[in-house]
Amino acid sequence: MDRETDVVIVGTGAAGLFGALQLPESTKITVITKDAAENSDSFLAQGGICMLRSEEDYGPYYEDTMKAGHYRNNPQSVEMMIRSSRQIIDLLIGYGVEFERQDGELAFTREGGHSRPRILFHEDITGKEITGKLLNQVRKRSNITIYEHTEMIDILCQDNICHGVVVVDSHGNVEPLYARDTIFACGGIGGLYRHSTNFSHLTGDGIAIALRHQIALKDVNFVQIHPTTLYSKKPGRSFLISESVRGEGALLYNARMERFVDELLPRDVVTHAIEEQMEKDGRPYVWLSMEKIAREDILGHFPNIYQRCLEEGYDVTKECIPVVPGQHYFMGGIQSDLDGRTSMERLYAVGETSCNGVHGANRLASNSLLESLVFARRAALDIAAASRQKLPGERVRFEPEKYTDRKTMQQENRKMVLQEIERMKKAYEQQHNHDVKCG
Ligand SMILES: Cc1cc2nc3c(=O)[nH]c(=O)nc-3n(C[C@H](O)[C@H](O)[C@H](O)COP(=O)(O)OP(=O)(O)OC[C@H]3O[C@@H](n4cnc5c(N)ncnc54)[C@H](O)[C@@H]3O)c2cc1C
Repeated sequence: MDRETDVVIVGTGAAGLFGALQLPESTKITVITKDAAENSDSFLAQGGICMLRSEEDYGPYYEDTMKAGHYRNNPQSVEMMIRSSRQIIDLLIGYGVEFERQDGELAFTREGGHSRPRILFHEDITGKEITGKLLNQVRKRSNITIYEHTEMIDILCQDNICHGVVVVDSHGNVEPLYARDTIFACGGIGGLYRHSTNFSHLTGDGIAIALRHQIALKDVNFVQIHPTTLYSKKPGRSFLISESVRGEGALLYNARMERFVDELLPRDVVTHAIEEQMEKDGRPYVWLSMEKIAREDILGHFPNIYQRCLEEGYDVTKECIPVVPGQHYFMGGIQSDLDGRTSMERLYAVGETSCNGVHGANRLASNSLLESLVFARRAALDIAAASRQKLPGERVRFEPEKYTDRKTMQQENRKMVLQEIERMKKAYEQQHNHDVKCG
């Protein structure tokens, strides 16, 4: 591995790959990922990606996003995301991404929390379609090199300036990788939880490194639980039953086969209702029925869900499936501005690892792929515009002896992130109770 690059990007999800493609082709870019390039949550996205269809929908889309986020969102971030959406979709289509169409026009679906259909999709594998096509594009670029099974374990920094990252390469060697600019696009924290829809190697490593180096974090108490994952006694990643299934008419039933909640309410509200119902029923799941959706629509729109449920022994065209809430998304993260800049110079954070407040306390369905792409592009444009000089690598001393006991370091990192989430949750609750008391 070359130890010097212009920009190092940590992560091969939608944010990392799209960011790499938005940087000038004259920039030497090194993209690293802890696992295989395809193993990112971006590949798992089922439901779709939002787009502002017309000026008439700006107000409703903005309001839906703010309402889902409990109005804790940063209004500038929300506006930026929505206003940029058409351009992002055009860029994706330019990279060969195919979305469902009706009579040649883009087709839109709806999910929980959306007052109108504004979600583009590709069957129920939208993330694979988008991220797979981005990966193909990246692989064609001679200025971008991807290193798989290469893990960032620290950053190189001095005087609050980032000079690159420390990695464990695919042979197990600890190496410095000096870079003029560094982008964290290292995803969520699901790997820290027992039940999660995320890949288990996504363990909030960027957050842990930020904590170790006093890089500002934001809203880390906001962790989203998805209301409907397929209940299974088998260990491993929980399989998500996309919200768009409920958007298309699927219903939730309790043990007596009665409905107990409006299925199209925001995620946290539906999750809460399911948890209460499971408690009442004394069961670890509730039922989800797709009987209101025509068989051909299930097979056409949700072939992946149909197939996966079949493998678990359920034919969703004929019977209900058991579902249970599971950790799904991290709204908080490394504090970033609208250009992805963090509190450390030359360090950017984009995608799920970052937080510019766009999601507030709870993400609206299908806003996260869009958010990842919008702000990854802005970070790339900011880096390109800055046209900074490379810092001499030897200015920062690389101390390999710090990384001899990596197992302990990893355990400490996990503990540190979860403790910070709990600490911030308590602080938030106290503040909330105080605000309520004081009217
Ligand atoms: C099952 C599921 C369904 C979803 N459906 C939707 C949907 O329909 N619509 C929507 O908008 N969003 C959806 N999401 C959320 C969305 O997919 C993610 O929020 C978004 O893709 C995050 O992209 P990202 O690039 O930030 O992170 P990811 O795609 O998770 O990529 C993170 C990358 O960082 C790498 N990495 C992590 N740590 C390190 C390290 N220490 N060193 C090196 N590399 C590292 C990983 O290997 C990976 O390549 C879904 C998520 C899940 C789990």
